[in-house]
Amino acid sequence: MRNVPMLKVIQFRYGNDNLGYLIHDEHTGIAIDPGDPGFLWDYIQQHGIHLKGIWNTHSHSDHTLGDSLLAAKSGARIMRSTGTEYITLEGGEIEVMPTPGHTQDSVCFRGNGWVITGDTLLIANVGNSVPGLFKAFRGSLTRLISLPEETVVYPGHDYTERSILRAMQIEPGNDHIKRFWQSYTPPPVVSTIGDEKRINPYLRTEVPAVIAYLKANGKNTDTSFKRFKSFLEL
Ligand SMILES: [Zn+2]
Repeated sequence: MRNVPMLKVIQFRYGNDNLGYLIHDEHTGIAIDPGDPGFLWDYIQQHGIHLKGIWNTHSHSDHTLGDSLLAAKSGARIMRSTGTEYITLEGGEIEVMPTPGHTQDSVCFRGNGWVITGDTLLIANVGNSVPGLFKAFRGSLTRLISLPEETVVYPGHDYTERSILRAMQIEPGNDHIKRFWQSYTPPPVVSTIGDEKRINPYLRTEVPAVIAYLKANGKNTDTSFKRFKSFLEL
């Protein structure tokens, strides 16, 4: 019987805390935010993978800086998404989800049971933003947290320790944060959508401790959106 092809997600680290990805099946793959592509290129060659495209979670230079080098080495094209689209590999389909907020051009890549979130959703944190994008950002996060709870989140940076310490400071009584931290064993740097709903203060703007934290910092807490906005402005 033929094995059902599957997509593997390989996370690799570059720079100080950037996380890049290779998604592949037995024969083909795509790179996302290849950064410093040395490791990725070695892996592609060792596994005999044909690279079908180079994608980015958004256009900030710390995410795109490896694109040209990897394109030159592999012959793969640098791709830009133009809205919701699907990348088809033998092992499965990847949905490119527009998630504006950190930047206008931010996207997430969703496969079967996982999502690569770039700087849109980080572990217990989110990327920074600008006032004109706050509304869109909140909408994008709402879409992400509507994914199944067990969906594995692969972020664009490893800011985990400082984000967790801050989340604990904001919600000292939240045992989920302590439990997450105790069982956190990178690599890979991952959480789940369910974890994020339980530990990420940006997704918990209805929680009294989070509201109290914002008030203590002199921020507007009138509505759910204002609390989210206040958090981004802190
Ligand atoms: Zn960024």
